[in-house]
Formats: sequence, C-alpha cells, structure tokens
Amino acid sequence: SPFNLETCARPNILALEPYRCARDDYKDDGTNVLLDANENAYGPSLPASAVSGTGTGAGSDSGPGFDLLGLHRYPDPHQNDLKQLLCNLRTTHAHTAKALTPTNLAVGVGSDESIDALLRCFCTPGRDRILVCPPTYGMYSVSAQVNDVGLVKVPLLPAPTFALDVPSILAVLTSDPTIKLIYLCSPGNPTGSLLSKSDIAQILAHPTWNGVVIVDEAYVDFSPSPSDSLAEWVLEHPNLVVTQTLSKAFGLAGIRLGAAFTSPPIARLLNALKAPYNISVPTSALASAAVSPAGLEVMRKNVAALAKQRNRLLEALPKIKGIGRLRGGTASNFLLYEILNAKGKPDNATALAVYQRLAELKGVVVRFRGKEHGCEGCLRITVGTEEEVTRFLAALEEAIGEVH
Ligand code: PMP
Repeated sequence: SPFNLETCARPNILALEPYRCARDDYKDDGTNVLLDANENAYGPSLPASAVSGTGTGAGSDSGPGFDLLGLHRYPDPHQNDLKQLLCNLRTTHAHTAKALTPTNLAVGVGSDESIDALLRCFCTPGRDRILVCPPTYGMYSVSAQVNDVGLVKVPLLPAPTFALDVPSILAVLTSDPTIKLIYLCSPGNPTGSLLSKSDIAQILAHPTWNGVVIVDEAYVDFSPSPSDSLAEWVLEHPNLVVTQTLSKAFGLAGIRLGAAFTSPPIARLLNALKAPYNISVPTSALASAAVSPAGLEVMRKNVAALAKQRNRLLEALPKIKGIGRLRGGTASNFLLYEILNAKGKPDNATALAVYQRLAELKGVVVRFRGKEHGCEGCLRITVGTEEEVTRFLAALEEAIGEVH
C-alpha cells in the first residue's frame, strides 16, 4: 500500500505529546488517596432525590448500573474494558484469523467525534481536501467546513443502486494529492443501501494514493447480516477506519458513544488528539451493559421488531396515491421514497410541501431530502413503533391528498 502515516498525517499531530495524568502511572483502585486531579472529595452535588431510588453498582436491577456517588472522579481516559467489549462484538474471524484488540480502537462522543477527529488528524486547514459521495451524511462536509478543509464530490451512481462510481473516485484520487480522506457510508444515509465490498476493496487497492478510507457503519446492525461490517478489514488495511455507534441499533443516541476501528498507528493518533476524558462514567457504564450478552439480546429483539415495521411500511407506502418509487435500499432503520406531483413526476416542491404539511398540520416529522441533497423530491422516513407507523401512514395519505 502506498499509505505512509508519516507523510499523510499532519506533522503537528505526529509530533503531539498527549496529555498525561498521574493516574496513567498510579491507578484509581481504591487503595490510593487521590489528591492529584483537583476533583471534589466531598462528592457530587446531587440532591438526595436524584440519588435515592437508584441502585449503586453494576448488577443492580433498580438503578443505572454505576455508582452515582462516585461521579466526583474523572473517568478512565483509556476505556480499555469498554474497548475490549467492542472488539469482542466485532471479532467474527470471518475475514481473518486475527482478532481486533483495544489497540485497534478509539472511542468518541458519538461517531460524529471520530468523523471530526480524522479531519483534524490528517487534513491541514486551507490546503487539504476530503472526498465525499452524495447523497450522504451531512456531517462530513460540516466538519470539513469547520476545519477549513475543502470538499470534492463524486456522486453515487443513480438510484436505486446508489453504488460507488469507482472509476471516477480512482481518477480523482490519482489526480488530486491534496485529498487525504474519503468518507464512505454503508449502509448509506439517506440511501439505506450497503456499498459493494469489492468496490471498497478497489479503492483501498489504489496504487498511488496516500490517504485514508473511512467507512461509516452507523447503521450496520440493521443490515441483514452482521458480517456486513468491515471492522475486521482494519487488521489487513493500514489506511482503513470503520466507524460505528451505539446511537442507532442499540438505541442509545442519548449517551453519545461512537467507535473508530482502525490500524494501531492511526488509533494511537486519534487517542493522542482527543480530549482526555471524552467518555463519561455513565456513558461508559451504559455502553458496556449494551454490548454485554444480555444487552445484545435486547438489541436484536428491537432490531427484529423494527424490521417488522419496516416491512409494513414497504407494503403500505406503494399503495398510497402520490407515492413514487422506493429509492435505495432497506438495510437500515429508514426508507427513502419519492413524492410525486399531481402529474405523477417526482419533484422537490411537492415533497417539501408534503414534508411541511406532515409536520405542521399532522405533527409527524420526517426528513426532506431534495435535489440539493442528491435526491429529487424525496422523504426519508425513520421506522417507528407500530403506533407511530400507523399515525404516519394516515397523516401521509391526508397530506399528499391536500397538496395535490
Ligand atoms: N453517521 C451517520 C451515517 C449518521 O446517520 C449519524 C447520525 N445521524 C452519525 C454518523 C452520527 O451518529 P452519532 O454521532 O450519534 O454516533
């Protein structure tokens, strides 16, 4: 591989001396008197009403599974226990005989933190650029703008495949050495389609490009098979990062926990540049519970229930007059549908009017994805509960009738 971390990453990040605390050397194991971190020894200022009625300690079935009275201490900056659980979750040996280890991982405040951290790690502001493939997740370009990093777009092939335009991507990577990162999304948002593994392999096999491939797998646990995850590919590819999150299939958007699987040298840089205590004690405890065997059982049950409602939408939506084609795939917890105008053609203005009517008159909020997002006149509909889907279907039929 032409990838060379020493010439690809930013020099200031390569030279970075990460923040160190005394507890890197002397552990918080209950035996030491800890007067090193300017914590408040008198405890958290939580009123009794917030503390009582909640269990303390892992295994309690009445409480959150962590000690509220211990929250005056900083969290573990390395999160090795949580990282090991996340590695176990993604080690299948399906792709390789090797196992993922905590050296392959950086955890962040949602995958949004990793998306941004990679830009700060590799892209020099005002000089470097990233490649994105619209329609895709909006934060890649927002983070690029925040970091004063340029954006090159190679759109996905037209719906319904929404596949990568591999020849165009390879050509752009050949001709533009300022591109340091390519952000791919699989299953895609808003497309709901899995990208082809052989297409991603072709990009990783680029003969001259010195850059990093990011595969955003925020929705991978909704896809039909867990082996759809490319996390283990990081054991073979030094310039691959696979990001995942507990916000979607695990239903924990509120705790903000994301994971970036990658080669140990890139993981080391991501860990060096992060804020030292980015993962809070409650987040860490709840994330560990979610990826435990009992947590996985709940996740799979919820994903199965959701798939049932997704199938219900797939059956019911085409019967509504004014609904166009399903665009993209069904590998996620949302569907992308065209909205037709009175003449039977998809158009932005009609979809936008239906979107606004749904929200303002029916109290049902979906997402408008139009020409400006790379899809003409579409709505992206998150799969809800049975009751929510019922309410949405009735509201949509009315809203389209009123707009036509
Ligand atoms: N990637 C994709 C494709 C997403 O759709 C989202 C959330 N909308 C994220 C990443 C960010 O998720 P989080 O920061 O909650 O992990």
